[in-house]
Amino acid sequence: NTFAEIDLGAALNLNITRCKYVKPTPVQRHAIPISLAGRDLMACAQTGSGKTAAFCFPIISGILRGQPMQRPPRGVRTVYPLALVLSPTRELSMQIHDEARKFAYQTGVKVVVAYGGAPINQQLRELERGVDILVATPGRLVDLLERARVSLQMIRYLALDEADRMLDMGFEPQIRKIVEQMDMPPPGVRQTMLFSATFPKEIQRLASDFLSRYIFLAV
Ligand code: AMP
Repeated sequence: NTFAEIDLGAALNLNITRCKYVKPTPVQRHAIPISLAGRDLMACAQTGSGKTAAFCFPIISGILRGQPMQRPPRGVRTVYPLALVLSPTRELSMQIHDEARKFAYQTGVKVVVAYGGAPINQQLRELERGVDILVATPGRLVDLLERARVSLQMIRYLALDEADRMLDMGFEPQIRKIVEQMDMPPPGVRQTMLFSATFPKEIQRLASDFLSRYIFLAV
């Protein structure tokens, strides 16, 4: 059981090898094929289980297989990412960004991170150069949406990482506001992955509101 046996595409497979990943972790072994098959997923996964790769690999693979990526024309300041990863904290967002960039190395897939508690200008400049995968904390993303600097109308992949922590931190209103902006037409194009260490009622409610016909995975 190796990554080479999973059909992720040559470019991504090369980067996986560069990262010295050989064997998928349990969450990767189960989550990646489910996502590649186009199904929504709710996965129970702890920190250190390899969940970052579990949601990044299908996203990058899917983007590379999809329509050609577009870059914003000069002077247009709204960007249209194809994938969104929501994470609770600046530290986790930076970590996901670093890993995702390694996985997307030399593929043309652009990863940008935006988090609160830091000046927005540098993040705006980074976004202006184009973004395929946006990694963001909920509060900062709402700010970017209100400034019309980011549009979620092209989102095809949504990953919610450490969803229970995001709810504990009080981000539910922001998360709902964000996901509402993706529920404009066309429906059914978005694929959603929800990762959480625990499954209280509130998380189950998020899952039934945001996921469709999802597969539940506990490893
Ligand atoms: P995560 O749970 O995504 O934060 O990953 C925990 C750590 O395990 C990170 O340092 C990853 O780079 C590493 N890792 C994830 N998947 C694999 C794998 N299949 N083989 C080796 N290392 C991995």
